Amino acid sequence: MSGPAPRVRATGEEPAARGDAVVPEVDAWQAAADGGAARRVTMPPPFIPPLARIPRALLDELVAWARAGLPNESCGILAAAQVAEDGGIATRFLPMTNTAASPFRYLIDPEEQLRVMLAIDDADEVVWGIFHSHVASPPEPSMTDVGLAAYPDALYLIGSLASEPPVIRAWSIRDGAVAEIVLEPS
Ligand SMILES: [Zn+2]
Repeated sequence: MSGPAPRVRATGEEPAARGDAVVPEVDAWQAAADGGAARRVTMPPPFIPPLARIPRALLDELVAWARAGLPNESCGILAAAQVAEDGGIATRFLPMTNTAASPFRYLIDPEEQLRVMLAIDDADEVVWGIFHSHVASPPEPSMTDVGLAAYPDALYLIGSLASEPPVIRAWSIRDGAVAEIVLEPS
């Protein structure tokens, strides 16, 4: 048995999720970065449905990989037969190296990424999610995470080790538009 099960936010715990996409404009990012506060702009949710299913065992794998990478952030890719937006359920986690080797950011090695992407493609699978950990901050995308998000059809899962048990939340990030996708463990 592994430690306590990772917690995903229970429905209704914080009534934000559905229509409340948080979309800072580029100017606003800069203003927020300069002023130390974020301006929030509401946009329609970029991702329907706002739910995604993932086996509990995979959530445990994500937490284990996040812990194994301490003191640095960890990262990896989740594969599935279909993207979450089409009802796909994550089937496996491919842990990857954080070549940034930093507690504050992650960088997937481009060659390793290419190899993993090709393997996923060869297996007739898709990139369902891209995971990374936050070692001491909440499981919410940083401005850097939003700026670097290059896969609009993938979920961005962030696992925070700042609390015990760790918390994993998922986000859709499209053209700078961020919306939380509620994870439903199955
Ligand atoms: Zn991050």
